[in-house]
Amino acid sequence: MTTEPYDFRRCKLCGATAAAPRYRLKTTTIQVCAACDFHFITQLDVMPDEEPEAEVRTLDVTAWNFIEKQLKKNRRQLEQRLALVARHAPLKDVECLDIGAGVGLFGHLLREAGAIPFGIEPQLVFRQFAEEKYSLSLRAETLDRPFWREGHAERFAVVTLWDTLEHLNFPVETLRDAIRVLQPGGRLFLDTPSRDSLYYKISEWSYRLSNGANPLFLNSLYSPKPFRHKQIFTVRQLTELIQRLGLEVVELNRSGFFDSSNKIMLVGKKSR
Ligand SMILES: [Zn+2]
Repeated sequence: MTTEPYDFRRCKLCGATAAAPRYRLKTTTIQVCAACDFHFITQLDVMPDEEPEAEVRTLDVTAWNFIEKQLKKNRRQLEQRLALVARHAPLKDVECLDIGAGVGLFGHLLREAGAIPFGIEPQLVFRQFAEEKYSLSLRAETLDRPFWREGHAERFAVVTLWDTLEHLNFPVETLRDAIRVLQPGGRLFLDTPSRDSLYYKISEWSYRLSNGANPLFLNSLYSPKPFRHKQIFTVRQLTELIQRLGLEVVELNRSGFFDSSNKIMLVGKKSR
């Protein structure tokens, strides 16, 4: 399967041919859209199912131990996310889809809470871990693939994208697909970094004042490596997008201007 190269002058949020390079980092370039001020980098992931040889990687002891260590750090955050979901939706015997499911811990927690978890995770090593550790079979296919196109419309009561939006090649299209598989009255949950933080703004100022020599945190906020951060939304861009795609925003939290975690957390509801 060949994919046409993407024209990065085309804004990944509003679609206007109005994006131009603004921040030239060591390893990537941040495009800024003159029409809607969206920030995104000039890399896209090659999806593993478009590159079958990637399937030979396996979960070795080093990878397993690394994942276990990360899980210890992330567990509390995932439990907080589960509590949020449970506050908005009954979970008993309810089918939930976790997009960007990682190693499956959230799916495991959903199952413990009585739900029926489904997950999408393009990285094989994570899917293998989910299978071995939690007996959870995650799908490799993203929502734009035939598997999801046929027969899953309006299936799930809950769809979650935890720390996923910033990693996606095409966040608008994936959100549209996520809403397609969401039941009428169903809830979509997501969190993602925010561009409204002081952390981000200081980095932009620093870049400008130093003529590009010192982009501070921009180097760590974006990465051209596979499955890393490709775009960062402002709160306004994200809420307007969610509403444009037909959801009502029923809860919105953001961490503070001074908070380096700078997260947006949003709950959307699909109308009945
Ligand atoms: Zn735009």
